[in-house]
Amino acid sequence: MKVIYSESHLGHDPQFFVVRGQIRWSNEQPEHATTLLKAAERDRHAVVPVGDFGAAPRAAVHSARYLHFLETVFDRWSEPDDASSDEVVPNIHPFSGEPCTYPEHLVGQVGFHLGDMACAVGLATWEAATGAAYCATHAAELVMAGERAAYALCRPPGHHGYVERANSFCYLNNTATAAQHLRRQHARVAVLDIDVHHGNGT
Ligand SMILES: [Zn+2]
Repeated sequence: MKVIYSESHLGHDPQFFVVRGQIRWSNEQPEHATTLLKAAERDRHAVVPVGDFGAAPRAAVHSARYLHFLETVFDRWSEPDDASSDEVVPNIHPFSGEPCTYPEHLVGQVGFHLGDMACAVGLATWEAATGAAYCATHAAELVMAGERAAYALCRPPGHHGYVERANSFCYLNNTATAAQHLRRQHARVAVLDIDVHHGNGT
């Protein structure tokens, strides 16, 4: 089987994570993908370098303001006084399931778009997230061109990502991006999610 892989995830190395009130090192690390890559190579699957599909596939499933936020927030994170120089992490959550106006202040936008404490944004997060979404798009392209199956080796993961909210280590929803891309050719697309909270995000 063809395995689509992007090295762009390697710089995404999140550190900050809060679980049950305790600050922990994020366990969503580059080794997740490199371990899978080694296994694919060992079993002689053909590793294909990812293509660049532009902004359209991600824009088909995410809002424009969220994509702009995710692309620019690390650079803008120098705006608030005393902001961390390492990673962007929310400290308020104005969304909270209730209707609210879109925050004007960056700290409010961080809380609006980063849904929990497992999706810190670092210097290389945007590049990694877009690379993973390209892997998913590339796999969908191969299937539309006649491959029986293709494996998108995506990191960061994506299936918990919402239309305009990162969630649980996910930023761009790779699954939804592939499914929406397949809909260019197929009227109906099935998604099988083996995680315990099937459908969350996707
Ligand atoms: Zn999960």
